[in-house]
Amino acid sequence: MKKICPTCKREYRSIENFCTKCGIELVKEQNKCSEMRTELCKTMIFADEDMYCSICGAPTTYWKDEIEGRKRW
Ligand SMILES: [Zn+2]
Ligand SMILES: [Zn+2]
Repeated sequence: MKKICPTCKREYRSIENFCTKCGIELVKEQNKCSEMRTELCKTMIFADEDMYCSICGAPTTYWKDEIEGRKRW
């Protein structure tokens, strides 16, 4: 799971807590559809454990990170 700075939108890893540019606390990135194949996908926010978009079936952003993390290692 990623964290993002609410001000500059820069991405950080989950172990980081503050933005290195703004010095403000990072927020957890929401679990969303990774492909946004339909307009409806853009409005959907899924639970942390959800793995696929309920609208189009694409992996959620959390799950996609997980899959890519596994490939890397
Ligand atoms: Zn920032
Ligand atoms: Zn979708």
